[in-house]
Amino acid sequence: MTESTPQPNSALSLPIRERRAERGAEASRGPADGATTLDSALPAGRHRARGLYVHVPFCFHKCHYCDFYSFVDREGRSGAYLEQIERDVDWTLARMDGTIDTIFVGGGTPTLLEATELQTLTAQIKRFPLAQEVEWTVEANPETIDGAKAQVLAAAGVNRVSIGAQSFDLRHLKTLERWHDPVNVARAAGFLRAAGIENFNIDLIFGIPGQTLEEWRSDLLRALEIGPRHLSCYGLTYETNTAMTKRLELGQFEACDEALEAEMFELTRETLEAAGFNHYEVSNYARPGSECQHNLIYWRNEPWWAIGPSASGFIAGHRYKVVPRLGDWLDRAKHASQPITDHEAPNAARHTSEALMVALRLTEGIDAALEQRAIELDPTRRGVFEKALTDGLLERDLRAGRLRFTKRGMLLANEVLAQLV
Ligand code: SF4
Repeated sequence: MTESTPQPNSALSLPIRERRAERGAEASRGPADGATTLDSALPAGRHRARGLYVHVPFCFHKCHYCDFYSFVDREGRSGAYLEQIERDVDWTLARMDGTIDTIFVGGGTPTLLEATELQTLTAQIKRFPLAQEVEWTVEANPETIDGAKAQVLAAAGVNRVSIGAQSFDLRHLKTLERWHDPVNVARAAGFLRAAGIENFNIDLIFGIPGQTLEEWRSDLLRALEIGPRHLSCYGLTYETNTAMTKRLELGQFEACDEALEAEMFELTRETLEAAGFNHYEVSNYARPGSECQHNLIYWRNEPWWAIGPSASGFIAGHRYKVVPRLGDWLDRAKHASQPITDHEAPNAARHTSEALMVALRLTEGIDAALEQRAIELDPTRRGVFEKALTDGLLERDLRAGRLRFTKRGMLLANEVLAQLV
């Protein structure tokens, strides 16, 4: 391997699914300041945010690569969860201003809820003042979507579903400890279409131990056959404290070779661009006009509300994470608003670093104002930009006045970002 050998963006491609971006800002977190509820963290008054993220923490099985907050023991807890959601919607409505443009219900597995429970959850969300053209996404596991649930979602106004396929190869699903039958991805899409939801994303993972380039090509083609408008393709990463990482450490398998992972990244771009998809973010591809508007809010560092245990939010320059434990989240003896952790008050330098981190993920890159602000806060960044331009990793789009990664630069973006932030 030489310096010019492309390296996969293992850290940049922040695993594992498209919604991962909502936690992207955690990358450059500073120390928390001790606020313990959302009420105590936010300034008084009403706050405007276009996005809303709702976390549903239930799954029927824990996949081995997953570090999202979810657990399998749902019995008797979903009722309490839904009651608390209602109270948190009340609180948020009393503190928000304007309308919501994008909603993302993630998890966990939101579609693990029964159809009646999904009806309750969506009814609560519909209490928000929604923009006429609201984009409303719900994440789904292919095993847990049926006709009744698809109908409930469509009737509520959900107009986009993100299906976690990850792979169409049973052997690789087994490696990931992912429990679903690949044929059920198309079946889930069929239920959604029959209910009137035409817009869906398929999540895929590449770089699975033992996966070949041809097998990855086959996964991409199988996904395309189903007709998604959006694909999220992430390189497998090994998160701390996951079973996958433990198994790697125990030598039960070898991680995918970096050069092969880079080839898979290139193959993804070639295949999906040839099929008419725009590569608009490091790991995300969309048919023109079907970019995920909710994730664009994260990547453009705009504010969003967060409801549910472990959900991260960004309001009035304050970042926070709702406590990642259902029991603590439900326990409101002393306060009305959500208990939070990792609160960070506004900080211009950090905000700029975060904006750089997330905006450079987009193929549109950053505008001149952000570039200038970044340099003013840290003049050494000018040299980093200039070197990356000379090396062909960054390029200027003079007409749009933006600085962005080149195709080759996308593969080496981690190195540049590490120097910038
Ligand atoms: S279904 Fe999704 S959230 Fe649940 S364990 Fe698997 S990857 Fe994690």
